[in-house]
Amino acid sequence: MVGNWFHQAANFATTWLPLAFFGILVITAYLLWKTVGMMPRIRPTHMDAGAKSQVTWSDVAGVEEVRAELMEVVDFLKDPKRYHRLGAKVPKGLLLYGPPGTGKTLLAKAVANESGAHFYSASASSFVEMFAGLGAARIRKLFLEARKNAPAIVFIDELDAVGAQRTGHGFNREQDQTLNQLLVELDGFEGAEQVVVMGASNRIQDLDPALLRPGRFDRQMLVPPPDLAGREAILGVHTRSKPLAADVDLKQVARQTSGLTGAELANICNEAAIFAGRRREAYVTRPDFDNAIERVVAGLQQKKVLTDKERRILAYHEGGHALMAHLMGQVSELQKVTIVSRGEALGYTLHLPEEDRYLHTKEELVDWMVVTLAGRAAEEVVFGRVTNGAANDLEKVTSIARSMVFEWGMAESVTSRTMRADNYALSEETKRLRDSEQSLLTDGAYTEALRLLKKHRVPLDRIASALLEKETLVRDEVMAILSDVEPESSASETVGVPRVVAARAD
Ligand code: ADP
Ligand code: MG
Ligand code: ZN
Repeated sequence: MVGNWFHQAANFATTWLPLAFFGILVITAYLLWKTVGMMPRIRPTHMDAGAKSQVTWSDVAGVEEVRAELMEVVDFLKDPKRYHRLGAKVPKGLLLYGPPGTGKTLLAKAVANESGAHFYSASASSFVEMFAGLGAARIRKLFLEARKNAPAIVFIDELDAVGAQRTGHGFNREQDQTLNQLLVELDGFEGAEQVVVMGASNRIQDLDPALLRPGRFDRQMLVPPPDLAGREAILGVHTRSKPLAADVDLKQVARQTSGLTGAELANICNEAAIFAGRRREAYVTRPDFDNAIERVVAGLQQKKVLTDKERRILAYHEGGHALMAHLMGQVSELQKVTIVSRGEALGYTLHLPEEDRYLHTKEELVDWMVVTLAGRAAEEVVFGRVTNGAANDLEKVTSIARSMVFEWGMAESVTSRTMRADNYALSEETKRLRDSEQSLLTDGAYTEALRLLKKHRVPLDRIASALLEKETLVRDEVMAILSDVEPESSASETVGVPRVVAARAD
């Protein structure tokens, strides 16, 4: 009996154990294979495979210029033949850039929806943590699908994640591969194909320049933070479905939220509704909005919401630049003046195009310095002291003054030779002379700015209060405000006007 039992058991073991062992092996191998095969799917890529978005133009407010430009793209995707017949080259690579929360992703979704095109989107930030080669493969697949299903839009959000400049640390091979694949795809299709590539980025200055070359993301559109009217419109969008009490004035809310983006305004509207709900109210009231603003602003750490005093200073600073541009006969080159801050630096942008420099006379350059210093001068004239808001202006003026003295022979005492250090060894004496010549130029320009602003104090007040009221003034508005003010300088009427491309807080 015992032997028989033992025999049976042994028999069982020799027959089944190897089989069971083999089975476990097969199952393990299968599971392993499956896990590896699944890996790419572990991290989602937010790819909407040709899905249609629900966002419409009416959901986007306060960014009219960009919206108008994007409507053209939509128009093209709807009726490309009309453009081809006219021989028009079609926009291919569009880049939306601007601070986070200004509505870039929202705009892309609206384009997708309104054009009726297939929309392929991926967030580049999701590629970053992927396994080697996977980001590149995703990009390839994205474009393949889009081409197959044209007309289509490929939207790559958060482009900074793969498009950051290949400098220093933080850049790895994976990002490199992904970026290269993206460049290949951008180059690899003709305008005749009805595929438009859109990208979005928070920091265009950090993007790899290869991405911005002609034929790639060569149409770049700034999506700025909204101005007063823009904020009011955005608040309108986000309170559309919320019952508001009679005491709520969206214009007033817009005034209290200078510097905030669309995303933050949307957040405020939502918080206000939550406050009202908590009180079991049927309507959202003005105190709800006040509480919501307080909460949202407190939650933004580095973000600066300007106080009334700061807004006034900024209005005079920017107004000073604009008035001076007019006095120096350069206002035709001014596109707009704004006190809406962009990023951390407040200030005004004057461009002196590099390639035109040799055309400038000394007088023009001095005028340009006067305009650039007029922001700080206005602060001094009006408030009796200056802020650190002019650092950028000072830098620019210093660098022009240095070039004038060192390179262009425009110093008062040394006019016939340059004083470049690499030309010959400078004596201590020459160095000192050079420095004092440079200060002579900049101090002279600043004194002139002070004098002119004191003389034209009334129009300065006018333009500052217009800025406080509207936050952004376009050129025609500036000209209307200053129509009775005669320009002071005629230097810039000659060749090569130093161009004031835009006056803006940037
Ligand atoms: P970005 O991509 O520029 O960082 P988003 O498009 O993701 O910003 O904006 C986030 C949210 O903020 C949007 O879904 C929308 O609710 C709101 N928002 C931002 N900008 C606007 C705008 N211009 N108009 C209306 N809503 C906006
Ligand atoms: Mg976005
Ligand atoms: Zn300035």
